[in-house]
Amino acid sequence: MNQKHKDNVSDPEPVQGKTFSLFAGHQTTDIYYQEVKFIVDQWLQDNSPPEELLRSIRQIKNPGKSAFGFRRWKQFREKHKSHLQKLEKILSPYLTDVESHLKSLSLTQRFDRTLRTSRQQYLLYMIEIELVNRLNAAEFKSAKSKLAFLPHCLRDLRKACKAQPDDLDYQCRRCSKSCFIRHCSEMLEKFNIRPYIWMQVDLRRLLRHLNHEQQSTAVLGIACIPELVNGMRLCARYQTPVIGIPLNANRCGRWMGKFFDNSINMKALQTLLE
Ligand code: SF4
Repeated sequence: MNQKHKDNVSDPEPVQGKTFSLFAGHQTTDIYYQEVKFIVDQWLQDNSPPEELLRSIRQIKNPGKSAFGFRRWKQFREKHKSHLQKLEKILSPYLTDVESHLKSLSLTQRFDRTLRTSRQQYLLYMIEIELVNRLNAAEFKSAKSKLAFLPHCLRDLRKACKAQPDDLDYQCRRCSKSCFIRHCSEMLEKFNIRPYIWMQVDLRRLLRHLNHEQQSTAVLGIACIPELVNGMRLCARYQTPVIGIPLNANRCGRWMGKFFDNSINMKALQTLLE
């Protein structure tokens, strides 16, 4: 029997997101992580150092759509043609119908850069997350203090969440045995990382403060792909070492109109921390 139990956090049932799902028809998201690793390994073998590749990816604004970034995108596309073809072939099954989603956006929603993420951006963001994790792993581990921000959509939606705020943000009170936030929090604490449910903290202000005080603090983020990349870029701007992993799909109210159960790959989280 291939039916997975809904409460099994180490082997969650497949979920479909508005624009992506890391399951892509498989029963696990392990394959996604293997494929991203494979693409990045090959890309780095043939081309520039990881810092340079990351810088080039970040310089591309909205490839194929934005006139502003078009010239850079063209140069990048010519230089990395074979890897971009591989990227498209291997990772596009992880995207759901991005085009229909983009067409359905209202005028106001089109100003939301997360919601208007293009197909090509998703693919490059997957690579960007892997590159950032590789480049920041050592600095993250050696930071004196480590904070993690988890999305509240990962909580057990069947429970009345008992999380409480402390001086920074909300912390899990372990009210449900089958809650991803609870399991992530327990794992993160074993690695001396303070886990928070991201509800109220102004991340930009926090990073500015940490940077100003020259505190040795690192951040771990869990979010949907575009939000995770936005957060990682913000951390980079304030010289804060950051690592993170994406949610298995984008299923919160912002994308779907209401909240649906979501998950992350707990093995990928553990591998990242080890
Ligand atoms: S286990 Fe934690 S995050 Fe999950 S519902 Fe309970 S208090 Fe909220």
